[in-house]
Amino acid sequence: MAETLLDKVWDAHTVRTLPSGQTQLFIGLHLIHEVTTPQAFSMLKQLGLRVRMPERTFATLDHIIPTLSQARPYADPLAEEMAVHMIRNAADFGVPLFDLDSGRQGIVHVIGPELGLSQPGMTIACGDSHTSTHGALGAIAFGIGTSQVRDVLASQCLAMAKPRLRQVRVDGVLAPGVYAKDVILTIIRRLGVQGGNGYAYEYGGSTLDAMSIDERMTICNMSIEGGARAGYVNPDNTTFEFLRGRRFAPQGPAFDRAVQWWRQLASDSGAPYDDRVQFDAAAIEPTVTWGINPGQSVSVSESIPGDADPEALAFMGFTRGTRVQGTKIDVAFIGSCTNGRLSDLEEAARIVRGHHVAPHVKALVVPGSKEVARDAEARGLHEIFQEAGFEWRGAGCSMCLGMNTDQLVGQQVCASSSNRNFKGRQGSPTGRTLLMSPAMVAAAALAGEVADVRQMLEEGVPA
Ligand code: SF4
Repeated sequence: MAETLLDKVWDAHTVRTLPSGQTQLFIGLHLIHEVTTPQAFSMLKQLGLRVRMPERTFATLDHIIPTLSQARPYADPLAEEMAVHMIRNAADFGVPLFDLDSGRQGIVHVIGPELGLSQPGMTIACGDSHTSTHGALGAIAFGIGTSQVRDVLASQCLAMAKPRLRQVRVDGVLAPGVYAKDVILTIIRRLGVQGGNGYAYEYGGSTLDAMSIDERMTICNMSIEGGARAGYVNPDNTTFEFLRGRRFAPQGPAFDRAVQWWRQLASDSGAPYDDRVQFDAAAIEPTVTWGINPGQSVSVSESIPGDADPEALAFMGFTRGTRVQGTKIDVAFIGSCTNGRLSDLEEAARIVRGHHVAPHVKALVVPGSKEVARDAEARGLHEIFQEAGFEWRGAGCSMCLGMNTDQLVGQQVCASSSNRNFKGRQGSPTGRTLLMSPAMVAAAALAGEVADVRQMLEEGVPA
């Protein structure tokens, strides 16, 4: 019988069906960080338990890491305390930690794929909502809460209900200036921020087939913003070439054997889905959020709809029927696990090269990992950004959320390549976030207002 990747991976990882009807699911890879683990490790200590499979558990520091000076001790005592806990717990429980000295530190969803830890057919869990990112490699990856982090640490298993599966096809060619971020914002806008409740999303179609793994990660990353429990892309040659030679990927003949296994995990043709939706890539434009959730977006050439949520309008200071294009910005942020990878930085650098950030804009580029930073610096991208007036920072979550010193102030408006525009997300309770692609953030930084990157690509950016 034809099966989907979700069916195959779920069955391969089922330990048993629990009396509740949930599945006891084996977790192949557990990624942890400093924010959602201290309580979980404390509970393990209280119960006298060890980490069941430290060889399948990997830790990093990301959310609270300062990005200006990363020297210890951190200026923020709370950040320092969380780092100390993570370092101590990793040592006490024998869990490998990619800390700042390792040269491999970074956002958990950037380093997992980068190190070749995230592989097709795996079940992956992490105490962070955007764990769905790893689905870009053909894995089934779930964000989990602190008590579930404890469960996975202690048993390497989770009690989970199998989600239904929606096939999300995108076909056709994206126009210049339109990126994976625009695709996922368009998907969420149409299906709704709760449209994926109870579902996992399988992304496919010719547009996804043509995308790099970085682009697929941007798509899968925001599955949770559409309510989906997980999101994945079937593994293909792009996946295998991405993994070849990475530190934790199988090597030599073992890699070739793994590719054979990975290839047959992809959904079979004729496999059944609970729902199917289709998008036309050619109809997608550069997209910007105007509201307080990622579904409240418009294309940059469109007006805010007549039925727009009054609470969101009041908070953001927009009115129905007006455009987001032309909105003055105070801050431009390029980074996060959605869009803090090398290809994101390369595309943004292409826009800013030889130009300058508007005088009133504070602009930051925060690489998603130390490796992204090294690769970008080897290509001279840091110099392009710095010459344009951007700050070039150390790796971390930074301004994606207000858990470190990179925060909005007052009612500042931020053009951001991150994934959430909830009230208060970027540190100020009244700060306003406009989500968009890194290229659009770069365009906004130069113009000092929300701009259409397509025009800049066609006509050249302002001098
Ligand atoms: S970059 Fe943002 S969404 Fe991603 S792991 Fe960090 S805080 Fe979470």
